[in-house]
Amino acid sequence: MSGFDTVIIGSGFGGAVMACRLAEKGARVLVLERGRRWSPSTYPSVTMKDWLWDEDEPERQNGWLDFRYFGDMSVAMGAAVGGGSQIYANVSIEAPEERFRQGWPAAITHAGLQPHYARVGDMLDVQHLPAGQWTDRTRLMRDAAAAIGEPGRFATVPQAIRFDPDWHYGLDDPFDHRHSRVTTNRWGRQQGTCIHCGNCDLGCPVQAKNTLDLNYLARAEALGAEIRPLHQVRHIAPHGGGYRLHVRDLDAGVDRQLDAERVVVAAGSVGSTELLLRCRDQYRTLPGLSARLGHGWTSNGDFLTPAWYDDREVSPTQGPTISAAIDFLDGSRDGARFFVEDGGFPDMLGNLLGRVARDPRVRGHRLARVLSEYADESDPARRLMPWFGQAADNAGGVFSLKRRWYAPWRRDRLALKWDYRAAEKAVQGLADMHLALTRATGGEAATPATWRWFRNLVTPHPLGGCNMADSAATGVVDHRGEVFGYRNLFVMDGSVVPVALGLNPSRTIAALAEQAAAEIA
Ligand SMILES: Cc1cc2nc3c(=O)[nH]c(=O)nc-3n(C[C@H](O)[C@H](O)[C@H](O)COP(=O)(O)OP(=O)(O)OC[C@H]3O[C@@H](n4cnc5c(N)ncnc54)[C@H](O)[C@@H]3O)c2cc1C
Ligand code: SF4
Repeated sequence: MSGFDTVIIGSGFGGAVMACRLAEKGARVLVLERGRRWSPSTYPSVTMKDWLWDEDEPERQNGWLDFRYFGDMSVAMGAAVGGGSQIYANVSIEAPEERFRQGWPAAITHAGLQPHYARVGDMLDVQHLPAGQWTDRTRLMRDAAAAIGEPGRFATVPQAIRFDPDWHYGLDDPFDHRHSRVTTNRWGRQQGTCIHCGNCDLGCPVQAKNTLDLNYLARAEALGAEIRPLHQVRHIAPHGGGYRLHVRDLDAGVDRQLDAERVVVAAGSVGSTELLLRCRDQYRTLPGLSARLGHGWTSNGDFLTPAWYDDREVSPTQGPTISAAIDFLDGSRDGARFFVEDGGFPDMLGNLLGRVARDPRVRGHRLARVLSEYADESDPARRLMPWFGQAADNAGGVFSLKRRWYAPWRRDRLALKWDYRAAEKAVQGLADMHLALTRATGGEAATPATWRWFRNLVTPHPLGGCNMADSAATGVVDHRGEVFGYRNLFVMDGSVVPVALGLNPSRTIAALAEQAAAEIA
């Protein structure tokens, strides 16, 4: 055995919580993460390279975003120390009680999760956008809810972001980094406060996002846990009472073997499902995994509708990516349950010019001033509103491994069988509401043809595949994430969530991991 007793595969919301809490209980923890350890100086938005992850050639291309195409469904995921927290939009929100009434093992209840939700909120220092920092999108959301006669459904969303209550849009050059207040957080990491630069999905240049490397993982490391980036686990086999992991060191380009008494698979909904499918069906090292492996997957009903306004500034490139929601998860619209959000996106040109202006070689020069002013005023999409949101669809997707008919000598590919009818009612409800909100506020929108004609979706919120349940007949793991039939082998991440949550899932994933870690000796 190595110097570690617990190996955690993946460092996102499931993996980081497990690493921290098991290290607190005295476990000797090793975290293997396929992605890099990113920092503000290495983000692709700064270096202009390493944007994408390529699952077929990860040694060659191990960048920021893993985008997978599965026919009618595509999935966006992060690859990083800190998992999806690096790329995500920071919304850290609890799922409502109604989402826990069906489909879960008996030991998981909304009431039982409350202390765990609270612990996550504390660790991620969750806050709401201060009143003086509402964005144009926040105001549009509020006005739209009022205009359809539902003002009570509007609220700003809780976010894992550090805000400075004194920051405001009226400051001189408000997005300049000098307005970010830098302090040391509880875990000894330096963080700034939000300057509304709009770059959340590309990495926060001032570390105002409370990404997992700055809290849960920092605490785990302080307790002796080791994190190895660019280490991709290829398969797991029982060995000597524990498990042997076959790992590809992507940096060195070599294969390694590691032994551990306890393994926590936390590679995300797609990653964990694929890894276990390969163990069961390709390498045949874990042949006793449940027949339900790969089943019960959901896209969480994510949907986006762009809308245009002639007479209203929306400025989607300014402020945190998502700021507010209009909540219809109660099913009051013909039974469709959904959660409308505003969506922002980074201004790439403005970013580039702003960065040149901040370069010490030109700073202070007249050119720097011109570029900086242009960067602040460049907002090519200022009248575009990306209406976004999630919907509680049915968890009917099935992942499996398939032979490539055009290249049978290559390893089997991960395939998804997804029937749009499982999502149709909920997603259509959300799409129709986007149009109603646009009409009520004087904008123009049309449902994207990708959905209208082709029933294609893209999701950043994959859930399920290794669903938790009360038995192997209905799921893959128990309520603590332990794999049925394999002692001390756990799965804990979005893959264990057995139902669509209908809103942003990271807080629930982390809360489930908190509960599991609390119950594991
Ligand atoms: C653009 C974008 C915006 C989002 N915004 C939000 C938001 O605002 N709020 C919210 O709640 N959710 C958001 N999400 C979704 C959120 O990021 C995910 O739900 C969350 O990260 C899932 O947590 P997880 O622990 O299941 O997996 P992840 O966080 O994805 O972590 C899995 C980790 O495992 C690693 N890994 C995978 N395979 C292997 C392997 N074989 N070996 C080693 N390591 C491996 C991956 O690189 C990754 O780091 C967003 C997602 C995207 C893409
Ligand atoms: S808006 Fe900019 S500063 Fe604020 S959290 Fe997002 S990336 Fe960081």
